Amino acid sequence: MQKTLFLIFLYFVTSWSSFSQEITLKRVEPPFWWTGFKNPELQVLVYGKNIGKTDPSVFAPGIELKLVHVMDNPNYLFLDIIISKNAEPGSFPIAFYKDGKKVTEYLFELRGREEGSAARKGFDASDVIYLIMPDRFSNGDPANDNREGFLEKTDRSNPNGRHGGDIKGILNHLDYIKDLGATAIWINPLLENNMLKYSYHGYSTTDYYKTDPRFGSNDDYLTLSYYIHQNGMKLIMDMVFNHCGLNHWWMTDPPAKDWFNQSPEFTRTSYRAATVSDPYISASDYNQFVKGWFDVTMPDLNQANPFLAKYLIQNSIWWIEYAGLDGIRQDTYPYCDKNFMAEWDKAVLKEYPNFNIVGECWLLSPGGISYWQKDAPNLDGYNSHLPSVFDFAMYDALRLGFMENDGWNTGILRLYDVLSQDYLYHDPSHIVVLADNHDVDRYLNSQKNDIRKLKMAMAFILTSRGIPEIYYGTEILMTTGVKNGDGEKRKDFPGGWPGDSVNSFNASGRTPQQNDMFGYLHTLLNWRKTKEVIHTGKLTQFIPRDGVYVYFRHNEKETVMVALNNNENDPKMLDRKRYSEFLDNFQTGKDIITGQTINNLSNIVIQPKSALILELKK
Ligand code: CA
Repeated sequence: MQKTLFLIFLYFVTSWSSFSQEITLKRVEPPFWWTGFKNPELQVLVYGKNIGKTDPSVFAPGIELKLVHVMDNPNYLFLDIIISKNAEPGSFPIAFYKDGKKVTEYLFELRGREEGSAARKGFDASDVIYLIMPDRFSNGDPANDNREGFLEKTDRSNPNGRHGGDIKGILNHLDYIKDLGATAIWINPLLENNMLKYSYHGYSTTDYYKTDPRFGSNDDYLTLSYYIHQNGMKLIMDMVFNHCGLNHWWMTDPPAKDWFNQSPEFTRTSYRAATVSDPYISASDYNQFVKGWFDVTMPDLNQANPFLAKYLIQNSIWWIEYAGLDGIRQDTYPYCDKNFMAEWDKAVLKEYPNFNIVGECWLLSPGGISYWQKDAPNLDGYNSHLPSVFDFAMYDALRLGFMENDGWNTGILRLYDVLSQDYLYHDPSHIVVLADNHDVDRYLNSQKNDIRKLKMAMAFILTSRGIPEIYYGTEILMTTGVKNGDGEKRKDFPGGWPGDSVNSFNASGRTPQQNDMFGYLHTLLNWRKTKEVIHTGKLTQFIPRDGVYVYFRHNEKETVMVALNNNENDPKMLDRKRYSEFLDNFQTGKDIITGQTINNLSNIVIQPKSALILELKK
């Protein structure tokens, strides 16, 4: 009996020992790279059982394995590789040795960069961004709705479930988006989100290098990028560095103890972004905001860890180069380590100096937002290096302004007031203006379904300064649903699914009201495409009076007058004298919506709750 027990014990000890010595190679990230970047350094994450107990080696001309970082966790190695200027595209093996024997190897590919890759021009004020929630736009491939090994299955009856929209669905409707007149497409995250539920929105990344197969493959994303560019449009990728999904493979086996921000008890962020720029903030409030988790299912990444920092920087560059991106929208920007974010912007812009990145800095005052745009004169000396931010101050003003009566500091004056604080920004012409997005009630709901106010808001964001963003479905008067949850802000585009009873992608499937709205935006967007005066012209505004707000966009060649009448029922005659500094130089004006010419500038009537956009002519 004793002997048997001893033998069993011996068996477990030896099998444990051989088990513990098992060496596998599961992941190498980035999976490949390119020659010819300004920064010759690359840090490769290697993951596999006991891979940290091996000695890696690289022999290839122009390639040097400079440093091998061993972590506390034996399942990781980080390799610092130098790619010299004379390194040729091709593949080289990274070999892993144990006790002098090669146990495994990885063939690492170095690709050649496409010509002009570094010079790519990001999106700017000459663009109009169309924002798409991919699960809710169109289901082009019902065969990919459910995938083996993926936890959440498609259920279109659940407003907060997956509905099956995908990359193919967007691809199928590029002609629709192009016809509407958008020139850039921002798609909410498409990376793998293998979560049990609420996975459709894509903000719980479980793999930073892989498109979720329920949206399509990485190759499908490349195809989409190719056709977006073929159609003369730009592609903006949504990235999330503040947090990942609870089911990310790092969670069960993190590379380092400080890879995530963890507290003894679950701590949720306060969502109060002002804590970061607040000169009087307490340490505990600051830490809770930056280090608290976004949700129980969204662990907070610690970007102050230098290995994670490099991983995220390289991940962005990898996607820009791989998919030919024209821009990045970075989620929950102030929630990340702000010094890391500045380094990230600098690293990306070093490789792509004309690229654009917009950060989601959701604060409601110009001062709160402007802190985050690069080169802002901040009291604490912080420079974010972020080229663009969202104008949530104007978003707020647009929601209140057309709903209120016009008073000393209410009503349409709110729009004027926000613009008057543009001196706070390093570059107000480069910020993204919006009436709504996937996180809020649709604008039409906020205006009690008054289409006149939606048109005013669209006219404003498309003719004032900045880069306009339009949320998918605005053009067909989509509204937020009445059931609970964010899913109702992201309803399915009618006609996007096989068998839908209505197809709003076609004019014949739209109501007269929907066609009217589509036509309004179609006219405005297509007019705007070639109007340099709107893209880069100066802006001069007049203080609103009697609910009438007038501003001019002007350059040496052209002048456009925009007049908004915020009165509920009263048409207003334009007071020509008041605007004589502009109007005296012109004889007529062309209404860009109706195409009609106004021959007498002393007799301009602006209808109630409407916007008049006039191209002035000598
Ligand atoms: Ca699908």
